[in-house]
Amino acid sequence: MYEKLAMYIDGAFVEAEGRKTEPVVNPASGEVLGQLPHASREDLDRALAAAQRAFETWKKSSPLDRSAILRKVAELARSRAQDIGRNITLDQGKPLAESIGEIMACAEHAEWHAEECRRIYGRVIPPRRPDVRQFVLREPVGVCVAFTPWNFPFNQAIRKMVAAIGAGCTLVLKGPESSPSAVVALARLFHDAGLPPGCLNIVWGVPAEISDYLIKSPIVRKVSFTGSIPVGKQLAALAGAHMKRGTWELGGHSPALVFDDADVDQAAVTLARLKIRNAGQVCVSPSRFYVQSRIYDRFAAKFIETIKAISVGNGLDKATQMGPLAHARRVDVMQAFVEDAVSHGGEIVTGGTRLKGSGFFFPPTVITGLPDHAKLMTDEPFGPIAPLVPFTDPEDAIRRANSLPYGLSSYVFTESLKTATYAANALEAGMVNINHFGIALSETPFGGVKDSGIGSEGGTETFDGYLVTKFVTQV
Ligand code: NAD
Repeated sequence: MYEKLAMYIDGAFVEAEGRKTEPVVNPASGEVLGQLPHASREDLDRALAAAQRAFETWKKSSPLDRSAILRKVAELARSRAQDIGRNITLDQGKPLAESIGEIMACAEHAEWHAEECRRIYGRVIPPRRPDVRQFVLREPVGVCVAFTPWNFPFNQAIRKMVAAIGAGCTLVLKGPESSPSAVVALARLFHDAGLPPGCLNIVWGVPAEISDYLIKSPIVRKVSFTGSIPVGKQLAALAGAHMKRGTWELGGHSPALVFDDADVDQAAVTLARLKIRNAGQVCVSPSRFYVQSRIYDRFAAKFIETIKAISVGNGLDKATQMGPLAHARRVDVMQAFVEDAVSHGGEIVTGGTRLKGSGFFFPPTVITGLPDHAKLMTDEPFGPIAPLVPFTDPEDAIRRANSLPYGLSSYVFTESLKTATYAANALEAGMVNINHFGIALSETPFGGVKDSGIGSEGGTETFDGYLVTKFVTQV
């Protein structure tokens, strides 16, 4: 049984009941899984009013109580991971093991925030006069709104929920209409964990209409968005016009630098597997591969061998290593990247053409021989396409890696401590992985620089975007 789709407003699940709906489609088959209700204006107003009312008590709640609810969410998430995971595979397409893995990792996010919310400390500042006491309080910012995407529908929503709720804020969240089951399941987790009505509200609808209405509302004090750079900039401009704080987790075009002294086979296999994870629909996916000339051929051979061995299919099939793309439009985007690459002299070594059938399948694709100005080298593909290009001079590789406005993740493979340190210092990125993939853990900060965003989720930084600073001086 697929998830019973609903909104969640003021502690109650709200189904279509005559509202406009939109079909949710299985990307592996094109089959309609269910109908998602869209929020009316009245629904949005009710969600905002509920969040505002709930904030008055939630902001004064004990961190111990907030912590207990977040721990319960983690426990329930683990116990329901099979069912929630199956539904994510049905409406998003990723292999079942990846869906279940996403939920298990997210249970840790809930636990981390349960621990850290007990450590939201202020500070005492030494006064200039002995009769003065002066201190800094960190208070929840207020009602937050969040917009989360479809590639990690559970992960990206829970990160915003546990940060807002753990900080003592309340939240209205719009999830991804194309892959909504994970967000409905999250509402059920918080509901069953005992979160008071109004602290978390879930709405659905036309993204631009909902975000416009919610961000402009005087009730709302903070916006958090994960998604594309163009939409992020639009929403940040709107938030700025209304003086709302923001956390922006946007796109990337992550460079992978493989140096002559790397463990070549390990680098090739690690990067190839990372590339096809979630069919490349990952903001931190390695997506520009710069390989030093002396090892270029060996790296390319191993990388291509690994990519060619990937089995593509329905995510519910145990043998599947890569599922479909999440939408039909993403297949068109991949095809356009390939056409542009060919027009720039690129050679398609494997893949390159959409797969026949009813689902939205595009094969893992490797392209070589591209100039730096080809679209695949300058624009985030957000799909299973990998361009391999050689470099000779390390400084040139860093310059090319830093030449784009993106600054999310980056990858370096080298056995030299000197090169690793040089690259870690020189790369303009929010995250640098050296010789492995080690980011997105609950205890480590996740976020970008440049056009890739502002703010961090996870780590001890996680509550910063949800708290305001109040200075008190007393005599
Ligand atoms: P898109 O730009 O149409 O949408 C991206 C996301 O933003 C979707 O979840 C969408 O529902 C939402 N959105 C769009 N307009 C909105 C608005 N006005 N208000 C609120 N939300 C809005 O692109 P797409 O085809 O859905 O996705 C592909 C692109 O999105 C990729 O190029 C990638 O950069 C980006 N993306 C990034 C992440 C991430 O984790 N940073 C996740 C998903 C998508």
